Amino acid sequence: MDDLLKRDAALLWHPYASLTEPSPTRLVTGASGVRLTLDDGAGGTVEAIDAMASWWCMIHGYRNPVLDAALRDQIDSFSHVMFGGLTHEPAVRLGERLVELTPEPLRHVFFCDSGSVSVEVALKLALQYQRARGFAGRTRMLTVRGGYHGDTFAPMSVCDPVNGMHSLFTGALQEQVFGPQPPAGFDRPADDPEYLAWAEAMRALAAVYRDEVAAIVVEPILQGAGGMYPYSPACLRLLRELADEYGFLLILDEIATGFGRTGTLFASEHAGVDPDILCVGKALTGGYLSMAATLCTTDVAHTVSGGPGGALMHGPTFMANPLACAVALASIDLLMASDWSAEISRISAGLSTGLAPAASLPGVKDVRVLGAVGVVQLGGPVDLPRMTDAVLRRGVWVRPFRDLVYTMPPYVCTDEEIATICTAITEAVAEGN
Ligand SMILES: *Cc1c(COP(=O)(O)O)cnc(C)c1O
Repeated sequence: MDDLLKRDAALLWHPYASLTEPSPTRLVTGASGVRLTLDDGAGGTVEAIDAMASWWCMIHGYRNPVLDAALRDQIDSFSHVMFGGLTHEPAVRLGERLVELTPEPLRHVFFCDSGSVSVEVALKLALQYQRARGFAGRTRMLTVRGGYHGDTFAPMSVCDPVNGMHSLFTGALQEQVFGPQPPAGFDRPADDPEYLAWAEAMRALAAVYRDEVAAIVVEPILQGAGGMYPYSPACLRLLRELADEYGFLLILDEIATGFGRTGTLFASEHAGVDPDILCVGKALTGGYLSMAATLCTTDVAHTVSGGPGGALMHGPTFMANPLACAVALASIDLLMASDWSAEISRISAGLSTGLAPAASLPGVKDVRVLGAVGVVQLGGPVDLPRMTDAVLRRGVWVRPFRDLVYTMPPYVCTDEEIATICTAITEAVAEGN
């Protein structure tokens, strides 16, 4: 087994990693329910609760019998066909289901293979939309600092310019319009001075760049990989207002927040704001296969279709892959058949109680919980190998980044498993960084 790790290290890129100075990597030999089975390097294995849900995805747990069966059934029928000139039942049914569950004005669906590509498609839709309306000069995006929208070039251009390491790609990235990060905190009232100052800054930017901006693009309510940072629904309402005032589209990236994670099915519901374009991914297939979707309103769909080109110019090879559609349908059905809202509240309460003791530890700057997301923010960068090890010794898998040790557990975690996650994180942080 050790041999596999050696072969991996010399051969394979891992996310955001060096090939010459690889960070420690562990070998997974199995996964079931909420647990990963890891090779212990000594001829045995250890089990760990996956507190990351494989980066937001694995909401129903590994080897879920319902999802396994849905995939097997689809394999017995057919696994893939091109989507040019062909369609199939899993795609039609999944499209209908997404339209039914997402905010009302969203009526049309583009399937693609990853979150980043769904953001590419959203930006492309916005550009084609503005061009079709005679605003060919509207080619930039208005966003806020602290965002994360994926790793391909167009999404990268709307990621936070510092965390997103724009300096590595100067000259190769489109220069977007960045407003300040919304003030921290879900509960911040709309008459709060920091909120008012932020709103003023956004209003000013929208006015200055009114002829250049095609769309506003943000992660609603919770910025994910940019900093696990919740902000007030009032901010989102302001962005909707600005979009309406200036004729920008509002693109909401719910790739991380979608399917219940923040306590509502989609995070925009906290604000009662409807986007013109919505991106979903990650938990869409319950973590089984890579798939994402871009939804849009009939106005956007018809305007783009009636514009120059007469079509949306995108078409991935694996568009609407039947296996991915089938497992996504099964995952959504499973979620909707559950009392998901109560489950998220239960996990949220468990995280709040369990992580509270961390707030008074030395070196801890902030502890915050929104829905089924729990975050311990330290005073400085996390020692990644040390922290990962310290949490893993306590039976839990986490993947901290920057100054954040955090969890977004599978929805099927028991209260006891949530408590184990919180204790492991709190004790590991208490050991010092
Ligand atoms: C993960 C993520 C993406 C990118 O999705 P990939 O499937 O990794 O390409 C985009 N936006 C948000 C908010 C994400 O969390």
